[in-house]
Amino acid sequence: MTKWVYNFGGGTAEGDTSMKNLLGGKGANLAEMASIGLPVPPGFTLTADVCTTYYENGEVYPDGMDAQIVDGLAHIEKLTGKTFGDAHNPLLVSVRSGARASMPGMMDTVLNLGLNDETVEGLAKLSGDRRFALDSYRRFITMYSDVVLGVHHHAYEDVLEMHKDTQGYMLDTEMTAEDWGTVIEEFKAITKRALGRDFPQDAREQLQGAVDAVFGSWMNDRAVVYRRLNDIPAAWGTAVNVQAMVFGNMGETSATGVAFTRDPSTGANEYYGEFLINAQGEDVVAGIRTPQTLTKHARIEMGETAPSMEEAMPEVYGQLAETFVKLEGHYRDMQDIEFTVEQGKLWMLQTRTGKRTARAALKIAVDMAEAGQITKDEALMRVDPLSLDQLLHPTLNPDAPRDIIAMGLPASPGAAIGEVVFSSDEAETLSKAGHKVILVRIETSPEDIHGMHAAEAIVTARGGMTSHAAVVARGMGTPCVSGAGQIRIDYAAGEFSVAGRTVKKGDIVTVDGATGQVFAGAVDMVQPELSGDFAKVMDWADEARTLGIRTNAETPLDVQTAIDFGAEGIGLCRTEHMFFEADRLANFREMILAEDKAGRESALAKILPVQQEDFAAIFRIMGGLPCTVRLLDPPLHEFLPHTEKDIESVAKEIGVPAGELMRRARELEESNPMLGHRGCRLGISYPEIYEMQARAIFEAQKSVNTEKGSAPVVEIMIPLVSSAKELEILKARIDAIAEDVGALDYIIGTMIELPRAALRAGDIAEHAEFFSFGTNDLTQTTFGLSRDDAGRFLPDYVAAGIVEKDPFVSLDIDGVGDLIQIAAERGKAVKSGIKMGICGEHGGDPASIKFCHDTGLNYVSCSPYRVPIARLAAAQAAITGNLKS
Ligand code: ADP
Ligand code: MG
Ligand code: MG
Repeated sequence: MTKWVYNFGGGTAEGDTSMKNLLGGKGANLAEMASIGLPVPPGFTLTADVCTTYYENGEVYPDGMDAQIVDGLAHIEKLTGKTFGDAHNPLLVSVRSGARASMPGMMDTVLNLGLNDETVEGLAKLSGDRRFALDSYRRFITMYSDVVLGVHHHAYEDVLEMHKDTQGYMLDTEMTAEDWGTVIEEFKAITKRALGRDFPQDAREQLQGAVDAVFGSWMNDRAVVYRRLNDIPAAWGTAVNVQAMVFGNMGETSATGVAFTRDPSTGANEYYGEFLINAQGEDVVAGIRTPQTLTKHARIEMGETAPSMEEAMPEVYGQLAETFVKLEGHYRDMQDIEFTVEQGKLWMLQTRTGKRTARAALKIAVDMAEAGQITKDEALMRVDPLSLDQLLHPTLNPDAPRDIIAMGLPASPGAAIGEVVFSSDEAETLSKAGHKVILVRIETSPEDIHGMHAAEAIVTARGGMTSHAAVVARGMGTPCVSGAGQIRIDYAAGEFSVAGRTVKKGDIVTVDGATGQVFAGAVDMVQPELSGDFAKVMDWADEARTLGIRTNAETPLDVQTAIDFGAEGIGLCRTEHMFFEADRLANFREMILAEDKAGRESALAKILPVQQEDFAAIFRIMGGLPCTVRLLDPPLHEFLPHTEKDIESVAKEIGVPAGELMRRARELEESNPMLGHRGCRLGISYPEIYEMQARAIFEAQKSVNTEKGSAPVVEIMIPLVSSAKELEILKARIDAIAEDVGALDYIIGTMIELPRAALRAGDIAEHAEFFSFGTNDLTQTTFGLSRDDAGRFLPDYVAAGIVEKDPFVSLDIDGVGDLIQIAAERGKAVKSGIKMGICGEHGGDPASIKFCHDTGLNYVSCSPYRVPIARLAAAQAAITGNLKS
C-alpha cells in the first residue's frame, strides 16, 4: 500500500528534510523541526505524489488516501487531546500548500478550519474567551470563502469596515464579541448569496474542500505561468500540510511573527524580524497593524517606540533566540522562520534557508566559515556567482528620490549619470573635454564603438538583449538600456521625447542598466569595491580553483579594471578598435583604398607607431602576465563610410574623389559579411596588414621590457582559421617579422571558431601553441544562426523547449561543447602541452565555466566586470569536481 500521508509532531516525524521532493519544502522542514525536538504543532503531510497521481488519473484521488487522512487526523487528535468536529473540544487545523520549490500563485493557506456554528461555542467555552473564538471564526469564514469557495475577500472586508465605522472603531482589536457575532451573521449571508447554499458546517467536508483547492491550484493559470517562467516541471506536484492550529490571537500574551536568524540584507549576525501581539499569521503580511521589531537593538536603530519582543515578552524571546541557535546549528545556514506564541508558549510553524542579498551572502558565508560552522569550500558554494554582479557596478542609492522617464530592457547592469548626447563623435569629443555623457541612439553599429567607449551609459530605442548595443556594452561593463521603445529620438533637433516630456542634448539623466530604467536628473549612487568579505571570498576561490581567469580587454582602462578584479592575463585583446579611432581611421581608409601593395604599405607605415603605442600602454599594465592579441578580424568594409553624406565628407578628408570611394565601398560590400572576407582571410589576401600588426606588437613588447624589465608573454592569435595551411602560411610570416625585430618571448596560436577548425584541430595543432575557443562565432557557425537575428525567434525556441537557454548566453554543451571536446582531444593528441582557453562571452557564464573546467581547459577569458564571477564559478566547478571524484 502506498504511503500517502506522513505524520509529524510530538518530538518525532515520519519524514525529514531530505524528503523535499515528496513532502514539499514546508512539510519536509516541519518534520525535521519536529524530530529535533522543536515545538511544532502536530500535523500530517499529504505527499506530492497524491497530486501527481490525482492528475494522472483524471482528477481522481488514489485509493487508500481517505483512510490515511483519517489516521492522520487521529494522530493530531491524540497529541492535542482534541477532536476534529467535536462540539465541546474541537480540534482546529490549518491547511497549507507546499511544493518542492517555493511557488507564488498557489492556493493561500486556510487557518482555523473545523469551526462552525457549534464548535465555535465549544471553543469559546474551552478558552473562556468568546471574543477570541468569534474572531477565529470570522477569519475562517473569510479565508475559506475566498480561497476555497471563490468568493472574494473584499466583500467581507467591506462589511467589517462599515461595522467599525458605525461603532467608531479604528482597529480590529477594538471589536467586541458581540460585534464579531453580528459581523459573522452578515459574513455567512454573503457566502450564501454568492453560492446559493450555506457556508459548509461539516468539518470533514471543509477539510476535503481545502485539500481539493490546494491540488486544484497546482493547475491554475498563475501557477502554470510561474512554473513556465521558472523551469519548474508540472510533474513535481505540490504537497498539502494539515496542522493543528496554535493561536496568536488569544490576547496580550499571544503573538505571531516572522524572523531571520541573520540580517538578510546586510548579513549581520543579528536576529532580524517582526511580530504582532494578539494576531494570526496573515495579519503580519496583510499590514493591518504595524508590526513591532524583534530585538531592542533594531527598535532603537529604527527609532520605534512600540516595545520589541525582547522587551515585551523576554521569556519567550529567550526561547526563540535559543531556537535560532539550534536551527542554524542544525541547518548550518541562515534560516527564515515563522512562529506563533500562544499564551506565552512558543510554536514553530516554518523554517527554510533564507533568501539574501549578494552582500549578505558573502558576509554570512565568511562569518560562518570563520566561526568554524562550515568549511571554506561550503562557504564558496553558498554564494551565487551571478549575484556578485549586484556588487560590481555603481548602483543607485535605494533611498534616493527618483523621477522615472523611460523604461527598456536591462541590457547591461550598472548605473550612470551624464549629459544626453545623440552621436558617437559628440560623445567622444565631450568626454575628452571631461564631460560625462550618456549616448542615446535609435540603435548602435560598429561605427559607434568610440562613442560607446566614451559614454558612461548607453540607451537605445530599438534592439533586444543581444543587439549590438547590449552585447558591446556588456563586454565593456558599460550600463545599457536597450529597446526603450517609447522614446522618440529626433537627431536633427537634438532631443528625444517620451510620454509628453522632452529631453534635450545636454540634459542630465540617470540610467540604471540593472532594471532598464532611465530617470530625469542625477540620482544618488553607491560605488562598488572588492574589499572586506568580497575580497576574502575571492582569495578562497583562488585557492580552490584550478582554471585560470583572464579577461577580454583592449583599452588600458578595461585592462586595469580586470587586473584590479583579479584577472591573470588577457585572453582576448581585439585590435580593430585601434583602427577606428579618429587619428587612424583616415590612414586605415587610405590603406583600404590603395590600388597596390606599395600604397597599402605606405598607409600602414603611418599607423604602425600609433598601434605600437596602443600595445605598449596595455603591456605596461600587464607586467609579466600573458597577453593574447588577436590580429585584425572584421571585414574591411566595416571601416568605410556608408551613407552618401558620410562618403562625401570622408572623400574630402582623405583627398579622393567621392565616386572612387563609393566604388570601393561597393566593391567591398558582401552579402554575408560574417562568413565573408574577414579574419585570417584578410591576412592571406593582404599580408602586409598582419605584418604591420605583428611588428607593432613585438616592438611594443621590447619597449616595455626596456622600461620596466617585465614584458608580458605575447600570444599572437590568428582568427577564423579553418585549415592548418592558413595558419602555417601566416605563422611563417609572423615568425619572419619576429626574427627581423629580434622579438622577445612569444607564441602563436589560433582561435577555434569554425566547426572545420574544431574537426581539423589535430593538423592545426602542428602549427599552434594554443587554441582559444571563440565560442560566440563557434555558436553562430555550429547552429548556422546569426546572433544579430536570433533575438527575434530564440524566445519561441526556448518556449517550445527546443533549446533550454539562449546558446549565446550559456554554452550549448551538447553541440558546441562536443566540438570543443573533439578539438581539445585532437589538439592534445598531437601536442600534449598545447594551451587552451575560451574567449567568448561564455567565459563569464558559470555553467559554461563548469564545462571548461570539466573539459580540462587551462583558462576562461571574460569581460573585466565578469572576472570575480568567473573566479568564484571556477572555484565551485573545482569543488563539485572534487566531490564527484
Ligand atoms: P505561506 O507559504 O504563504 O507563508 P503558510 O502556510 O506558511 O503560507 O501560512 C500562512 C500564515 O499562517 C503564516 O504566518 C503561518 O505561520 C500561519 N499558520 C500556518 N499554519 C498555522 C497553524 N497551524 N497555526 C497558526 N498559524 C499558522
Ligand atoms: Mg509561510
Ligand atoms: Mg570571431
